[in-house]
Amino acid sequence: MTRYALVTGGSRGIGRAVCVKLVEAGYHVLINYRADEAAAEETLAEVRKVGSDGELLRFDVADAGAVEKALGEWTAAHEEDFIEVVVNNAGCRKDNLMVFMPTEDWNMVLQTSLGGFFNVTRPLLQPMLTHRRGHVVNIVSLSGIKGLPGQVNYSAAKGGLIAATKALAQEVAKRGVTVNAVAPGYVETDMTADLDRKTLSKQIPAGRFGRPDEVADLVAFLASDKAAYITGEVVSINGGIF
Ligand code: NDP
Repeated sequence: MTRYALVTGGSRGIGRAVCVKLVEAGYHVLINYRADEAAAEETLAEVRKVGSDGELLRFDVADAGAVEKALGEWTAAHEEDFIEVVVNNAGCRKDNLMVFMPTEDWNMVLQTSLGGFFNVTRPLLQPMLTHRRGHVVNIVSLSGIKGLPGQVNYSAAKGGLIAATKALAQEVAKRGVTVNAVAPGYVETDMTADLDRKTLSKQIPAGRFGRPDEVADLVAFLASDKAAYITGEVVSINGGIF
């Protein structure tokens, strides 16, 4: 039986690395992306190099209607199957001091991380509960734990997602479904390309940014049956920043 995993924002960065690790773990991976099809195709090529397979699934996680349509079509075409792992990774930054923050930047960041989690996870929960098997992994951030100035929107989105992780974990634990969060610090991806890595690395006890594959190893563990008794947890991966 094919085992399916969905990774939102799988076209680049941490999401791409997660796709590769989940394929190594034997999953057929649904690679979601919003706009960058060429990058998503690169992820698919990497996945195929590993041996198993994947497919692209384009939708904007912030658009509830688009998510419902895409996942509804997939489910209708796979009546015998269900998606047993969902990694809510899609996220974006729109940094600004709150006093200058446009309403649309507040809404976009909240709708992507927090709204995206709700839009994508809700329709996938029922089949997991029926099969009594499933793992939800939410990618949050150090910002959602400690709050970072210039990121009131991002900190609120990730902090909200941490609380949602803990609440949902308690709702579904009895049915064998785990819900956990991974909170990276600074990771080398497009999202941090505008940051001064050299200066910021001095503030990190490990002295460097993390790599996407390091985050992906942790996600793959939490998405595996080896982590069946870990739920409602927020695991930091940040080189020692607290
Ligand atoms: P990148 O900017 O490198 O990649 C973002 C990915 O998310 C892309 O695949 C992008 O697809 C997708 N995406 C963005 N918005 C949407 C949307 N509305 N719908 C569907 N897909 C979307 O980010 P990272 O890999 O760095 O970040 C991944 C996650 O990790 C995010 O949630 C981020 O907040 C979190 N994180 C990252 C840290 C870091 O230092 N990099 C630190 C802490 C947390 P497309 O290109 O098609 O738009």
